[in-house]
Amino acid sequence: MTVSANLYGRFAERFEPTAVCLQLPDGRNIDYAELDRQTARYAHALVALGVKPGDRVAAQVDKSPEAVYLYLATLRAGAAFLPMNTAYQSGEVSHLLGDARPTVFVVRPAAAEPARALATAAGVPRMVTLGDAGDGELPALAAAQTSEFATIVRQESDLAAILYTSGTTGKPKGAMLTHGNLHAGVSVLHRFWRFQPGDVLLHVLPIFHIHGLFVALHCALWNASAMWFEPRFDAKRVLQLLPRSTVFMGVPTNYVRLLTEAGLDADACRGMRLFISGSAPLLPDTFQRFQSRTGHTILERYGMTEGGMFASNPYEGGRRCGTVGQPLPGVSLRVADEHDRPVPPGTIGSIQVKGANVFAGYWQLPEKTAEEHTADGYFRTGDLGVFSDDGYLGIVGRSKDLIITGGLNVYPKEIEEIIDALPGVAESAVIGLPHADFGEAVTAVIVPAAGAQPDAGAIIAGVKAALAGFKVPKAVHFVAELPRNTMGKVQKNLLRQQFGA
Ligand code: AMP
Repeated sequence: MTVSANLYGRFAERFEPTAVCLQLPDGRNIDYAELDRQTARYAHALVALGVKPGDRVAAQVDKSPEAVYLYLATLRAGAAFLPMNTAYQSGEVSHLLGDARPTVFVVRPAAAEPARALATAAGVPRMVTLGDAGDGELPALAAAQTSEFATIVRQESDLAAILYTSGTTGKPKGAMLTHGNLHAGVSVLHRFWRFQPGDVLLHVLPIFHIHGLFVALHCALWNASAMWFEPRFDAKRVLQLLPRSTVFMGVPTNYVRLLTEAGLDADACRGMRLFISGSAPLLPDTFQRFQSRTGHTILERYGMTEGGMFASNPYEGGRRCGTVGQPLPGVSLRVADEHDRPVPPGTIGSIQVKGANVFAGYWQLPEKTAEEHTADGYFRTGDLGVFSDDGYLGIVGRSKDLIITGGLNVYPKEIEEIIDALPGVAESAVIGLPHADFGEAVTAVIVPAAGAQPDAGAIIAGVKAALAGFKVPKAVHFVAELPRNTMGKVQKNLLRQQFGA
């Protein structure tokens, strides 16, 4: 028998046919045997549409069981899955189609007409529809297929997915993830977070992004677990499902919203063993309030599209607020200076990673791929971080958000932490804006706490009392909320545009 590294085959070896996989809002349950049959039908459908091993299958569809079948069927057919953010507009979709040249583009029925024009212009041979109620051309085609499919043999280095990064500047780049990368990622997380028989994952994240697709969904499939498969995050619904769940994965804004629900308490979380947060920094205030309301200490972890998870707070032992814990097993992670040399604990530097989960490069951008790797093979994450003496990693921010004022480096997070702790402040974002004398001027954008009207003078005085003069904001702006993308990341580029004009 040929040994295959096809990730679907590796999942399927672990499936319990009669165990429930997806628990849907309408009360339907889909077990692992049904998942296997459906993915076989979808794989035949893809082949019928002309998909061959090594091809790309692009999808801009809503979260649904059928979207999961499509993803897993793409793996089974030996092709690479290219999920698109459902918020992408025609310009972004055109760029991705032209860049990745998929064989098939799967779209929501309501988007069929505009998508057809984009697909035709990009030379994409086939376009089919898939609706979130199991409607559309692809489910109809799949229904006519047989329920067995011989999963295509793949090597570790074969492509399983291309995920375009949420990069806030420039055109999105396709991060190539292999079957080997994804297998390395899920097997480590499954062990590290102690997935166990009986676990029920509360899945509320989108599945076009690494967090919902490769962290949440993969962990549940690897554990042959049940998951509440929710179309989106809804705090009230989460509260109803928590007592019947054991693991929740969310972005920090999910936790902030949950905290606004009066019913969030230890009793609501009685079935839970683990709350995980990632994709953006968790504010200490959220971490502490969640702990005092529920008795649960959120486990914060760190990773990115280009390689999955790099660091995590421990399952047992100290989960330290404001840190992302220690490098995961199998991941070499260093904080380095501008010559790619590791810096000592306490010194801020660039985070660089190497490991079996780290991606195979950017799709058709060999020069960019080379530029983002060091001579000794570490990937430059673009994040700045600092190790504590006992090996906990703190994320200071993206290197492109570093402010250089009067020739001095200013790390926004240090100032944001001071401002967030001042009276009347809910949260803040510190950015650099062009300045004739200083190069960049430190600028604070602040969301007042409910009912508060903080004074700019008091904010400036508060920072002055705590930090060196060059870190004190030259200007303070107040906003009702900070612009965030779907994964809860503050879009500092939009703030720079808004206030730099
Ligand atoms: P993405 O590729 O969309 O998952 O974004 C990855 C980026 O999100 C990382 O490079 C970090 O800048 C940021 N990120 C992820 N997790 C965390 C975290 N726990 N704390 C701070 N930033 C994070």
